[in-house]
Amino acid sequence: MNPVRSSDKSMVQDMLLEFNRVNPILIARDALHEYDTEVRVRPCGWKGCRMHIPVELKQVSKHLKQYHGINTSATSEDTEKTTCLWSGCLDTHTKPGNLSRHVLTRHLGVRWICSHCQSSLSREDAFRRHSLERPDCQSAEVVVNYGDGSQVIDLVYIDGGWSASQNVMLI
Ligand SMILES: [Zn+2]
Ligand SMILES: [Zn+2]
Ligand SMILES: [Zn+2]
Repeated sequence: MNPVRSSDKSMVQDMLLEFNRVNPILIARDALHEYDTEVRVRPCGWKGCRMHIPVELKQVSKHLKQYHGINTSATSEDTEKTTCLWSGCLDTHTKPGNLSRHVLTRHLGVRWICSHCQSSLSREDAFRRHSLERPDCQSAEVVVNYGDGSQVIDLVYIDGGWSASQNVMLI
């Protein structure tokens, strides 16, 4: 999966726009190394961003670091708080190290659901605790709810860095 060469980028983008009549889904190529067949993505709502990001904590963190200059590992006592620039969230001040989790749960709406009692939890480790604490849920499985508005991209059909049928372009 090579990215589209930068000299061809605007050409491919124009072609996709003309073909599909909506802006193409832009995904960072190096976000895709860990996926073989498909990836679930959501539009990034950070101010001015036009990319899509894979719906996974690690990937959100990588994206915030790479494209928005957030030091996503900074959590120490003396770390200064930063502002979340996600559309509609201008008041949230948190340590940069907490932003990935904030974006995943608050803005992407990812929840972990207990298959036995349908409890909805905001983190995977909270589910593990939940299943330990409740005898009835000890053999339950966790079902990830990826929130509204995510879509699955089939990587098999991304040839030469783009896919017209899925309106996807790797950058
Ligand atoms: Zn972004
Ligand atoms: Zn926010
Ligand atoms: Zn449960």
